[in-house]
Amino acid sequence: AAQAETMGFQTEVKQLLQLMIHSLYSNREIFLRELISNAADACDKLRYEALDNDALYGNDSELRVEIEHDAEAGTVTVRDNGIGMSRDEVIQNLGTIARSGTAEFLQQLSGEKQKDAKLIGQFGVGFYSGFIVSDEITVRTRRVDQEQGVEWHSRGEGEFDIADIDKPERGTEIVLHLKEDAKEFADAERLKHLVRTYSDHIEVPVRMPKVEKAQDEEGNEIEGSETVTWETVNEATALWVRPKEEISEDEYKAFYKHVAHDFSDPLIWSHNKVEGTLEYTSLLYVPGRAPFDLNQREGVRGLKLYAQRVFIMDDAEQFLPLYLRFIKGVVDSKDLSLNISRELLQKDPQVDKLKSALTKRSLDMLKKLAKDEDAYQTFWNAFGNVLKEGPAEDFANRDKIAELLRFSSTHTDSATQDQSLAGYVERMKEGQQKIYYLVADGFNAASHSPHLEIFRKKGIEVLLLHDRIDEWLMSHLTEYDGKALVDVAKGDLDLDEMADEEEKKAQEETAKAKAPLLERVKAALGDEVQEVRVTHRLTDSPACVVLSEHDMGYQMRRLMEAAGQ
Ligand code: ADP
Ligand code: MG
Repeated sequence: AAQAETMGFQTEVKQLLQLMIHSLYSNREIFLRELISNAADACDKLRYEALDNDALYGNDSELRVEIEHDAEAGTVTVRDNGIGMSRDEVIQNLGTIARSGTAEFLQQLSGEKQKDAKLIGQFGVGFYSGFIVSDEITVRTRRVDQEQGVEWHSRGEGEFDIADIDKPERGTEIVLHLKEDAKEFADAERLKHLVRTYSDHIEVPVRMPKVEKAQDEEGNEIEGSETVTWETVNEATALWVRPKEEISEDEYKAFYKHVAHDFSDPLIWSHNKVEGTLEYTSLLYVPGRAPFDLNQREGVRGLKLYAQRVFIMDDAEQFLPLYLRFIKGVVDSKDLSLNISRELLQKDPQVDKLKSALTKRSLDMLKKLAKDEDAYQTFWNAFGNVLKEGPAEDFANRDKIAELLRFSSTHTDSATQDQSLAGYVERMKEGQQKIYYLVADGFNAASHSPHLEIFRKKGIEVLLLHDRIDEWLMSHLTEYDGKALVDVAKGDLDLDEMADEEEKKAQEETAKAKAPLLERVKAALGDEVQEVRVTHRLTDSPACVVLSEHDMGYQMRRLMEAAGQ
């Protein structure tokens, strides 16, 4: 063929292939789901491009995915009449991994099967999973708007060949040459079962050929009379359109894996059809673990956007605030124009309304999840630090967000962040008006802080904040349930309301007796300090440094210093 060349995979692809083949062996049937998922995406993309160019359909407007097999040859073929790929797209999509942060991510992989299977799942293995069951893969494709077809072929060992071919039909055909130990997949029943298990919810029909032979009068099959009819094997209606009562847990979970490119189950989901001034359907999920690029604020995020059931775009980030960037799912709006672009989305007032509605739904879903302590802890460990950005970003919802926060506390004296503000309030002492917290660099520094002495003595609980973001969080969260949140390292503590008469007297006497000492210390420290005071907040340590109430906290200072301020 013309224009044939051999090219090397990007290093990361080689690494990924190696690890995947080893760690996903016991899950290897997922290859079919991944290929069907790509084929369905390709159909969605064509449908979208054809919105303002109907001619793209040519004489073939019935979008579909077809699966065929050949037991003798040991092959499985997945074919679609979607958008197809150009030569450059093939090289880009099937030769590299474009996501940023990939190299670092792959370095975390250890070669331990169980662990890596989980990590690789975070990554969305996609097309390359075909190599778990194949020793050779051939891809033939033609992009809808191009004349030239392309063939890609590889043994998954470090390089691939690419060549121009004739391909009259648009779309993509992927032929898997099954490995010796994976020949079992070249079987109609097995394939059908896999489609129903993993791809039932895919909106385009997934078809398989059914070979029938005509029968003579006595009911015997007539040789040479085979006719092939195509049978749709999946449900083929968009899952979110179906009534909730008819959708099983397994279907919801399978759909999550499709939209989130994740492997493991979600923790919870929320499916809503809303009618009225704002009409939309949403299906939102909370994943069970963090993707590897969660902390990159510009990482991939957002919902799959549909307008009147037509796919518009992936990763539409305009529908949720940044602090909910871990939420995955679909929003299907009745009110958005089919021609909406990313730029237009930013200006559309409907989008703001949808965003505030979906934010509410997400927070409600988390509230519901919080009823299951174990599941919520899994969520919190993965995404707590992201949710902590909430009060600063979303003032209007800060009370709802505050309900969802979890902290370490002197109540448990454990580094695990599992105490809610509501729990704290319930445990408040008689007469206690405020919620006390302390910010430190790490849990140990927090729990051994001299600032805690008086609180421990009086049996008053203090929240122990030890994440980088905590001070930022607390600067935007000044009260909860009508009670002020107070940093124990700042200003006066007003613990007096809780001191009894005798204690107060003793404190006054100490203050009087120590006046000369204070003068001497003040003289010695001079301008280094603002003020020297007798304190009742220490029981064992002789002295401690306290910030005045409006000073910037230690963490913020350090952040500013690091930024060169
Ligand atoms: P993902 O689906 O998460 O993007 P994949 O590895 O599954 O990752 O696929 C990589 C890319 O290859 C896709 O994003 C798409 O651009 C392209 N691709 C894969 N399969 C097809 C197909 N059947 N038709 C068109 N493009 C495809
Ligand atoms: Mg994919």
